[in-house]
Amino acid sequence: MSVAEKIIELTNQLVSDCTLVAVSKTKPNTLIMEAYNTGHRDFGENKVQELVAKFEALPKDIRWHMIGHLQRNKVKYIAPFVHLIHGVDSLRLLREINKQGVKSDRVINCLLQVHIANEDTKFGFEKEEITDLFANSSLEEFQNVKITGLMGMATNTSDQNQVLDEFSGLKNLYDEVTQLHPDASSFKILSMGMSSDYHIALDAGSNMVRIGSSIFGSRDY
Ligand SMILES: *Cc1c(COP(=O)(O)O)cnc(C)c1O
Repeated sequence: MSVAEKIIELTNQLVSDCTLVAVSKTKPNTLIMEAYNTGHRDFGENKVQELVAKFEALPKDIRWHMIGHLQRNKVKYIAPFVHLIHGVDSLRLLREINKQGVKSDRVINCLLQVHIANEDTKFGFEKEEITDLFANSSLEEFQNVKITGLMGMATNTSDQNQVLDEFSGLKNLYDEVTQLHPDASSFKILSMGMSSDYHIALDAGSNMVRIGSSIFGSRDY
């Protein structure tokens, strides 16, 4: 199947309130345009330099998602245009995003990344930190960021029950935060699920999936 056929098939599989982020990292602009020409507009990248290059080269109505680990010193390059930053994993990073939001006169949409995997290597806040942040209104000082939801990555394992447990735990936290949130209508995104586990993520209540290899084919780095 072509990229166009795959993206149409996936879009048709998803319910209408679930957003598909097509993860185009390492893939050429020609393939992104194939997906774009089907009407798709949400694309995800995990490297700032690549994201900026693609933003500059491609149509300006693409909504660019920064999905990877983001270094503070690189926020300034994406702040003027990024649609959503998925991997906010510290208050120091959030403070920098806010600062760059002020400079570009934008309110930057962010998801807080939660550490749900049983692996040391994945970034993110612990669940208790997240509830504390909202319970203590610690985020209100950041006028130029909008926390629109949560993001998580499950353990890379063939044990589907474990993956379901991890995603369900994140959904519970998301529901809890929705109760605590001062403006619940702006807190509405639960980003979880990639090519290998998005079916499980959807069962657990995800409403944004980040899918790369199932659309564009495997990556060789
Ligand atoms: C690469 C990546 C994805 C997509 O992975 P696939 O297995 O290719 O679907 C999703 N989320 C993040 C954070 C990624 O870095």
